[in-house]
Amino acid sequence: MGIISPAERLTVPTDFCEPVEAGLLTVDLSALVSNWRKLASLSGGAECGAVVKADGYGLGQAAVMRALAGAGCKTFFVANLLEGETARALAPEATIYVLDGVVPGCAPRLAAAGLRPCIGSFAELEEWAAAGATLGRKLEAALHFDTGMNRLGFAPRMAADVVARARGIAPTLVMSHFVSSQLPADPINARQIADFLPVRAHFPGVLASMANSSGVFLPEKPYFDVVRPGYALYGGNPTPGARNPMRAVAHISARIISVRDLSPGDTVGYDGVWKAPRPSRVATIGAGYADGLPVSATAAPEKPAGEAIVGGARCPFVGRVSMDYVVLDVTDAPKGAAERGQWVELLGESIDVEALAARARTIGYEVLTRLGRRYARRYAG
Ligand SMILES: *Cc1c(COP(=O)(O)O)cnc(C)c1O
Repeated sequence: MGIISPAERLTVPTDFCEPVEAGLLTVDLSALVSNWRKLASLSGGAECGAVVKADGYGLGQAAVMRALAGAGCKTFFVANLLEGETARALAPEATIYVLDGVVPGCAPRLAAAGLRPCIGSFAELEEWAAAGATLGRKLEAALHFDTGMNRLGFAPRMAADVVARARGIAPTLVMSHFVSSQLPADPINARQIADFLPVRAHFPGVLASMANSSGVFLPEKPYFDVVRPGYALYGGNPTPGARNPMRAVAHISARIISVRDLSPGDTVGYDGVWKAPRPSRVATIGAGYADGLPVSATAAPEKPAGEAIVGGARCPFVGRVSMDYVVLDVTDAPKGAAERGQWVELLGESIDVEALAARARTIGYEVLTRLGRRYARRYAG
């Protein structure tokens, strides 16, 4: 990809360059908010919620929720009770849905925190109604219908039955989830929407929701009343194969902690999986798989290795990614750019989560949620 101008590449503000730090994760909260606003503007007037499960896709649930609530987001989705309790403490007024639904025994705590489970079975419905009866009121919940994931939710043909048996609760949302919304040409999208429409008709006056991030970009425009983006908020590309319309939110940089010159035939790292083909200069950076750089970002016959931006040049990982270190081939980096103490970019505007994921045979969602806890974290914006 060649040289990137210094202005284009991630600039690490000098106050970030504290000598104690070898790895830095910067979360750009203004980019997060701008992604949320963009998704809201693309959703045909539907309310734009935010999925903040898995610690805000690895970026920090507290900072993410405060930023989005401050920007006007009123509906949040989390995976489980504990995430929901955290969410409630952060956003006392918000509507918070728990995607797991009612896990056995959790109903009283869900109710106490004012959380709304996404119910997908009669057993959950009964536990939720019983928890409500104890409190003397009908508790609010989403009803989740399974139009193809075969993971969670009622079968669409059970809709009339669900209406009858949901009398002991107060449904506030009827929802389903796409199998392949990232593939707009897949006929399953239209089929799922077609199966969801009659379900929705059974619940007049209840809000409906289907779209995750990629769902917002489907030609069928399945916005309904509430959209539920996660990945795209955090800078993931909801339109794989096309240009990423979202701004980068996670920026990872690491410092060069050692540089050396190798002769042809010298190897790097465990098991010597990389052998210098020419006189080479290599730089060791202070981040490894314990920081979320996948071991699978090591070069393999069928795919190239991960890369870092060093002084504007793309430099490949050489040798196996180890726990605390990655070694870069900086032979072709600009003179003076690959020196001890300098910062290199691993994730950001020049290398997005898809790019790193593609070189690690995984998906951007996994890259984000496995970023690791060791970095110094900075929240900007
Ligand atoms: C995780 C999740 C989302 C968000 O999906 P993204 O692809 O990250 O936008 C929406 N709905 C449900 C049910 C989910 O589990």
